[in-house]
Amino acid sequence: MSAVENHGSTTETKIREDAFGNATGLACRECGNKIELGPHYACPECFGPLEIAYDFPALTREEIEAGPRNIWRYKALLPVPDDIEQSPNMEPGFTRLLRANNLGTALGIENLWVKDDSTNPTNSFKDRVVACALSAATEFGAKVFACPSTGNLANAVAAAGARAGVKTVVFIPSDLETPKQVNSAVYTDSLVAVDGNYDDVNRLASEIAGEEDGWAFVNVNVRPYYAEGSKTLGYEIAEQLGWRLPDQIVIPVASGSQLTKVDKAFQELISLGLVEDKEYRVFGAQSQGCSPVSVAYKGGVDAIRPVKPNTIAKSLAIGNPADGIYVLDICRRTGGAVEDVSDDQVREAIVLLARTEGIFTETAGGTTVGVLKKLVESGQLDPALDTVVINTGHGLKTLDAIVDRVGARATIAPSYDAFVAANIV
Ligand SMILES: *Cc1c(COP(=O)(O)O)cnc(C)c1O
Ligand SMILES: [Zn+2]
Repeated sequence: MSAVENHGSTTETKIREDAFGNATGLACRECGNKIELGPHYACPECFGPLEIAYDFPALTREEIEAGPRNIWRYKALLPVPDDIEQSPNMEPGFTRLLRANNLGTALGIENLWVKDDSTNPTNSFKDRVVACALSAATEFGAKVFACPSTGNLANAVAAAGARAGVKTVVFIPSDLETPKQVNSAVYTDSLVAVDGNYDDVNRLASEIAGEEDGWAFVNVNVRPYYAEGSKTLGYEIAEQLGWRLPDQIVIPVASGSQLTKVDKAFQELISLGLVEDKEYRVFGAQSQGCSPVSVAYKGGVDAIRPVKPNTIAKSLAIGNPADGIYVLDICRRTGGAVEDVSDDQVREAIVLLARTEGIFTETAGGTTVGVLKKLVESGQLDPALDTVVINTGHGLKTLDAIVDRVGARATIAPSYDAFVAANIV
């Protein structure tokens, strides 16, 4: 094949006619220019980001409900072939939406739910986007599946690649948490640690994509297909609420892709008549050590000034977020906000969620729950409205963050006297 190209407008790849389901082309987010489906991610006219355009058929709730209990129940709304379930994949999605009464009471929110994506196959929401990216990359004939990653994406690519029987090479910043490194290396013999931050790793990936033939970097040169996977979070939340949208939703922001796609999913459900049209507010969550989007939001400006990340929320540590400006648009348009919390508030929120709901989240989820708390306290979020908070990853991947905060209450001799003396209850 003629490589998964950077941004060329030609390709010799023969794409199966039904390879992308109801997708009809790629549309530029900036200038609206439309081009054919292919391994492209930047507009040939203005270099703006490309997004999948569709012609959706009429679709009923019942048709969706009859589908598998994973993201493929929404395959009609994704750029994937109709027989996608037949290919070896991780079958991510349809994670639980838990009513969080205890956390709600602690924060003074009447109706609160946690969408718990830590139960995906590699314990983060990234399994959703990787499933869509691998499907597209396979159609384009890619030989190597790769990614620059802040950790979770590398885990998901390495595992999905192993299951699909394809070669994977995953790139991460070398200072990443040990559990996240091991969670990639166990699936692939090609984990590459780069001495630099995520933005350096991302630049390197773009360079390799431009030089090497047949490499699909899931979040770089097949990004339009990858990004669509995040829409399934929005579809599931609506379906699990009984086919209605929440009033408010709090979403972590790294590149900003997930937040923009949850909003896109809500818009699609409204225009397909699958949920009632209503107003909802979207809130973005960042950590103060890497908060370029919340800084722009609070400053009332449209441009995002890149930062050098320094935060325990490493999975959110993208200093130059590709979709940051669209996050600003959405949060402003819907009457939401972008807020940030300190590392200490992140740790506090991890323990709060664990002790109120029995859910162990990673630092990204600590950031999101911490921001939820701050938004209620500051009056930016209405505690009387139905609210969903997304937990995007599992706490076992970032144990270091709280190892000094939680641990054995006492170490005692194996005797009843010692137990009594320790004064546990
Ligand atoms: C990647 C990631 C995010 C954010 O993803 P973007 O779409 O890049 O904003 C959030 N949480 C976790 C745990 C992640 O790994
Ligand atoms: Zn354009």
